[in-house]
Amino acid sequence: MPSKPTTLAAGECASETSDVQARFAAFRGRQIQVLEQLAAGASLERTFQAVVRMIQEQSPGTIASVLLLDPDGLHLRHGAAPDLPAEYNRAIDGLAVGPGVGSCGTAAFHGRRVIVSDIATDPLWQPFKELALGHGLRACWSEPIFDSHGRVLGTFAMYHRHACHPSEEDLQIIRVAAHMAGIAIERQRTEEAFRLAERERDRLERDVEEQRRTEELRQVSEQLAMATLDAISANICVLGDTGVITSVNQAWLDFAEENYFLQRDSGLGTNYLAVCDAAREKCEYAGAFANGLRAVLRGEVPEFSMEYPCHSPTKQRWFSGRVTRFQSGQPVRLVVVHENITARRRAEEELKTISSRLLVATRAAKIGIWDFDPVNNRLVWDDQMFEVYGIPKNRFSGAYEAWESSLHPDDLQRGREEVATALREKDEFDTEFRILWPDKSIHHLKAKALVQRDDAGQAVQMIGANWDITEQKVAAEELKRAVAELGRSNADLEQFANVASHDLQEPLRAVVGCAELLVQDSAGRLNADDGELLTHIVEGTRRMQTLIRDLLAYSRVGSRGGWLTPTDSNKALALALTNLDTSIRERDAVITHDALPTLVADPTQLSQLLQNLIGNALKFCKERRPEIHIGAQPREGGWQFSVRDNGIGIEPQYRERIFVIFQRLHTRAEYAGTGIGLAICKRIVERHGGRIWVESEPGHGSTFHFTIPQKEEFSAWTSPTASNR
Ligand code: ADP
Repeated sequence: MPSKPTTLAAGECASETSDVQARFAAFRGRQIQVLEQLAAGASLERTFQAVVRMIQEQSPGTIASVLLLDPDGLHLRHGAAPDLPAEYNRAIDGLAVGPGVGSCGTAAFHGRRVIVSDIATDPLWQPFKELALGHGLRACWSEPIFDSHGRVLGTFAMYHRHACHPSEEDLQIIRVAAHMAGIAIERQRTEEAFRLAERERDRLERDVEEQRRTEELRQVSEQLAMATLDAISANICVLGDTGVITSVNQAWLDFAEENYFLQRDSGLGTNYLAVCDAAREKCEYAGAFANGLRAVLRGEVPEFSMEYPCHSPTKQRWFSGRVTRFQSGQPVRLVVVHENITARRRAEEELKTISSRLLVATRAAKIGIWDFDPVNNRLVWDDQMFEVYGIPKNRFSGAYEAWESSLHPDDLQRGREEVATALREKDEFDTEFRILWPDKSIHHLKAKALVQRDDAGQAVQMIGANWDITEQKVAAEELKRAVAELGRSNADLEQFANVASHDLQEPLRAVVGCAELLVQDSAGRLNADDGELLTHIVEGTRRMQTLIRDLLAYSRVGSRGGWLTPTDSNKALALALTNLDTSIRERDAVITHDALPTLVADPTQLSQLLQNLIGNALKFCKERRPEIHIGAQPREGGWQFSVRDNGIGIEPQYRERIFVIFQRLHTRAEYAGTGIGLAICKRIVERHGGRIWVESEPGHGSTFHFTIPQKEEFSAWTSPTASNR
């Protein structure tokens, strides 16, 4: 832009001068306006259009145009030419600059103003003459647009529709226009560069932020990884490609410290391979581990693991050591994990011991173990099973049908159903069946098994045991026969004893009667010795009568027991006391009792039981006045009775013996008796399903206890009809 456009007016006449001055003042005003628009941020296109209009106003008849030079400096592009025909604008858009390319192409090429006064004749326009003339364009002068460094940015052209030459004013105007366009372009380019720089700065900032975040993330991941490793109880370390420890977890540090082979902080940086190599002499496992480490390091194997003992002075320990290769880029790293597996090893050893014990036990007990998979119909037998079934291994198909084919035909259906039921709805299987050995011998087997199910309740496994119970079966049968035989002979014996003692009583009574008559008749006639002999005969016979009576009572406990029926034990006691009335009076005994229960018992035998015990309590009291208490306490499943006295008591060593028949602790001279009373008591109590025992302290009395279990009313195990006498 010219610094003093008014100088244009120099040399002109006065009237013209004022006219020119006015126009230039207006021109300056327009320039300021355009520049203000530019400063306010108007777009390049708007600015160009404003400049074009400004020029066209300033120089009427002129058609102005702005072309922009590509950054490569080779082609011109349409900038602004609102009043040139659109078709013309399109035709010259992209025009290659050159020495003879019209006014603009040439001006841009040489970087200097080009004035063509007549397009029709000027050689510069030769190639475009038709185009220009076709649009009524005849003259064109073009001014290069420069940036502040003198580089060509484009061209500003002024067209005329007739051949003409620019005046000095036109030249001034075109310079100003080109200058302003240059400012606009430069400004726009500066802004663009600025925006680019800003974008670049933003991108860089984003990159930096991204890097910062990535780094932060890396650190967090690293910390997380370490925290995770620290939370693991196994000892873990990472080795570099030479075997140097690059990181360790807390467990590794603790272990190292505890075992004194590495100082707490010296784990890192230690060459672990060298540590293992150094221990090679003393410990074969260290050498093996070093070899494994090397093999993984060299990539010969992807990983290595071994189990080894690592006993401390105080503890027996086992470890598993595992080495895995880890390669993310270069170099290779190894992860070493040592895990304490002592608990697992112990469990395994225990399991082994238990298994071998079980094996020994099942062999010794001749128990066969089997495992049936119902889903795949696979039956597995251990060696003992073949012994139990008496078949060689090669004759066993390993399917369920193999088992069925061994079953006794009479047990086949039941066995099949029991297995099916167990698989369908039971967890346990417990049965007995018969099998036929190949030699046709019959064997009784016992089977017990457990059924395993999946989550859906489907049976997936049945594990069980079989053992031969033929001997027990035979023995049980024999026992049953023997018991029946014994029962029969006992009944015969009882009947015989009953008959014999009953029949013996008759002649005895006759002997006693005769002897007594003889005593009376011979009174004073016999000498002293004969009299004494006769007395002995009478006493002996009486004693024999008592013995026979008691024996008869003993034998009748079983054979003549009555029905067990609800019995009021108060009544049973009352009867016993009535029977003992004479003795009670003679001894002036004090007898007390609790309220006694009603219970299922044989009323006669209960009364006899109480009578025997109270009778003994009266008898074994010596000179003391007898004090006897009969009690009854409810106990779980029945009642416990007691008969307590203040008599002579019983030495501890005799407390069992006194219940055996004929066992007495005193002579007849001291205490009369046959030694059968307590044996009868024991039989009665046992018949009721109870038990009898005595607690005593010599000199301080005895307490006889007996229990009568609670039971529903039922007939006695020995029917009252068993005896016919
Ligand atoms: P007997 O009374 O006919 O001797 P028992 O069978 O009734 O036979 O008793 C066996 C023995 O038990 C008695 O001889 C006696 O020595 C001892 N005995 C039984 N009851 C008592 C008791 N209440 N106090 C001390 N001793 C007893």
